[in-house]
Amino acid sequence: MKVKVISVLEDNYMYLVIEESTRDAIAVDAAVPKRLLEIIRKEDVVLRAILTTHHHWDHARGNEELARLCPGLRVYGADERIGALTHKVTHEQELTFGAIRVRCLFTPCHTSGHMCYFMWEDGSPDAPALFSGDTLFVGGCGKFFEGTAEQMYTNLTQILGALPKETKVFCGHEYTVRNLKFALKVEPENEIVKKKLAWAKQRDDEDLPTVPSTLQEEFLYNPFLRVTEEPLQKFTGKTDPVEVLRTLRTEKDNFKKPKERPNPPAMLAFDWGLFSPFLEKK
Ligand SMILES: [Zn+2]
Repeated sequence: MKVKVISVLEDNYMYLVIEESTRDAIAVDAAVPKRLLEIIRKEDVVLRAILTTHHHWDHARGNEELARLCPGLRVYGADERIGALTHKVTHEQELTFGAIRVRCLFTPCHTSGHMCYFMWEDGSPDAPALFSGDTLFVGGCGKFFEGTAEQMYTNLTQILGALPKETKVFCGHEYTVRNLKFALKVEPENEIVKKKLAWAKQRDDEDLPTVPSTLQEEFLYNPFLRVTEEPLQKFTGKTDPVEVLRTLRTEKDNFKKPKERPNPPAMLAFDWGLFSPFLEKK
């Protein structure tokens, strides 16, 4: 199977997965139909299905249009709010597209109906792929909009974290540089964070994606997967892994990259003389 990484909107990723023997294709998070259709035409494949990770517009807004343009298109997801949904899937449900196998992994928290998709081909030497939407990012994790730290902890450790270490991680956004700057604040001594950040900056300069990473790598620099490590406990002042994760998320929510060089506040030129007639009336 071949995965095409398509950057759309400001920093989103849309993916097209191609089953090479049948030339069928599956899209993950089809936000921009025009871009997707261009690539489908260029690759000469037939779009059979869309897998939507969650209902947010920057992941799902192309569904209706694509369903209209591609009769018989199947739209999978776990949330009724997903546009043009035809197949509601549940945790650990498996789907087959030619030689491609998909396991749905329910990871509620960023949204209450968030689904990740784990994909592989039987008998293929290629590493499996995880489409992690806005649950797991390269170097980070999604905001807890509709869920709790307990849920994200389960998602990251028991569901996604338990997948084979060589799994390639294809996430929903290009947030890597920002995420790793925060990771470096959390673990200033972590050499792997420093190295990955330097690499990600370089990719950014060249306008190249930082996906995919591997799960194995993520465990070395992603603070949200490292909640039992001593530097994380030190940074958050907590020991319980769920509390470490909760504090980490709050810190990340408040983490802003420092402004370049803020301008000094503008001096107000104020001529009291102009207002004196009014002032005198008082
Ligand atoms: Zn989202």
